[in-house]
Amino acid sequence: MTYRMYLDGQFLEAGNNQTRAIYNPAQGEVMAQVPEATVADVEKAIAAARREFDEGEWPNLAPARRGRILLKIAEAIRSRAEELARLETMNMGKPLSESRGDIADAADSFEYYGGLANKITGEVNPISGRALDFTLKEPVGVCGQIIPWNFPLMMAAWKIAPALAAGCTVILKPAEQTPLTALKLAEILDSIAELPKGVVNIITGDGPTVGAALVKSHDIDKIAFTGSTEVGKWILKTAAETNLKKVTLELGGKSPNIFFADADFEMAIAGAVFGIFYNQGEVCSAGSRILVEKSIHQKLVEAMAERAKQIRMGDGLDSNTKMGPLVTAEHRARVESYVRIGKEGGAKLVCGGNRPGGSLSRGFYIEPTIFDNVDFNSRLAQEEVFGPVVAIIPFENEKEAIRLANHTQYGLAAGVWTKDFTKAMQLVKKIRAGIVWVNHYHPAPMEAPWGGYKQSGIGRELGKYGIENYLQTKQVYINLNQKPVRW
Ligand code: NAP
Ligand code: MG
Repeated sequence: MTYRMYLDGQFLEAGNNQTRAIYNPAQGEVMAQVPEATVADVEKAIAAARREFDEGEWPNLAPARRGRILLKIAEAIRSRAEELARLETMNMGKPLSESRGDIADAADSFEYYGGLANKITGEVNPISGRALDFTLKEPVGVCGQIIPWNFPLMMAAWKIAPALAAGCTVILKPAEQTPLTALKLAEILDSIAELPKGVVNIITGDGPTVGAALVKSHDIDKIAFTGSTEVGKWILKTAAETNLKKVTLELGGKSPNIFFADADFEMAIAGAVFGIFYNQGEVCSAGSRILVEKSIHQKLVEAMAERAKQIRMGDGLDSNTKMGPLVTAEHRARVESYVRIGKEGGAKLVCGGNRPGGSLSRGFYIEPTIFDNVDFNSRLAQEEVFGPVVAIIPFENEKEAIRLANHTQYGLAAGVWTKDFTKAMQLVKKIRAGIVWVNHYHPAPMEAPWGGYKQSGIGRELGKYGIENYLQTKQVYINLNQKPVRW
């Protein structure tokens, strides 16, 4: 199957006809070819988005009309949800049930921002003097959007929907490994007659070529990025060195999932296992550091290991599968390097760490892996593995739990498990992270802000916060004094 990218309303091959092989990680086989865009292709896409922003109707369309177009996109995604979910699973590896959740979330994102489009308001500023002063909220302009491979369509929707609602135009670059559902989204966008051509462009290719061309462009007003902290830092620096384009970053994490002895143990175990092994652990907010109170440490390790060994691995299309393969062979090698780092660093490997054999040996699988008694300063406790590998660290008391939780460069998420409300609220206030879940892990509701403290990012996505990334504020001052200025 050969796909084409979406540039100025046309489905095109790369300018030099180069393609990239796209894999099904469950089978370890090539499933599709996509264009490998050149810098010239990116420039064409930027020119189209620039034209549509500067001269086109999109930014000036009545917000309610933009909103209705987003609602149509949401419905079109829903009408093709099963096809999109299957494609997501085949390309990315995650279980089909999880892909279905992602596709529903993508549709919800267009619906949420469709509804928000005509509720964006400025305000009147209470200045002194004979004048009227108010603010206009205007679209920030042409947006380059760069996304990772772990939630391909959902990340595309989180980026495109608020940008469109605000009146911006877009060039989206999916991750090189997982562009297929974004290219299906291009078909959906193309089928919506009221969406002008060139408002959304979806360009496939690699980060250092296509992504970097967006970041370095003087014709782009904003970059929205989700991915690693390392690339995020480069983007911020490069944006500053070119045209000081606005930048928002959603980056990595090493999130603590904290278990007190007074937690409901059944809920806690389920939350610990789900927190790390959901989506194969390839989640920016994965609960990859388990902090556990000493008195239940042993019990929790044993119960987690028992559950981990029961996790059914397999092709995500198989309805019995709980955990799919990792996204690529290269990524699995990276995750395996952390298994070695853990062993060499003296942590105790409780279970996992190997590739499953038999019928799974062709795919990019790795077993759910638990390390216990991990030194809180070690690489395994500090660096993002981005796979099904968890580091367990015991603590004595609440104070130590807070200290360990915050002992990281990251600050994306945290979980707290206790029945003691006061204790929970104390942790909520002390933990430096963009979200704290109490007696739960992972929900990211569309209506609420998502983003990181510290090196986990800049800015917030989702909810009414998410649209701010795509707006800028203009002040209007109207003199009501009909006399020449006194000077
Ligand atoms: P990555 O290497 O940072 O890639 C993310 C995206 O950036 C990809 O599209 C990539 O292109 C592109 N890119 C790479 N180098 C670039 C450059 N020089 N200029 C412009 N774009 C460039 O991260 P990843 O390996 O895909 O994803 C894993 C990371 O993302 C983890 O660290 C994870 O924590 C983070 N993440 C964070 C969140 C969040 O919400 N905070 C969500 C998901 C993932 P390629 O296609 O060539 O790779
Ligand atoms: Mg990459």
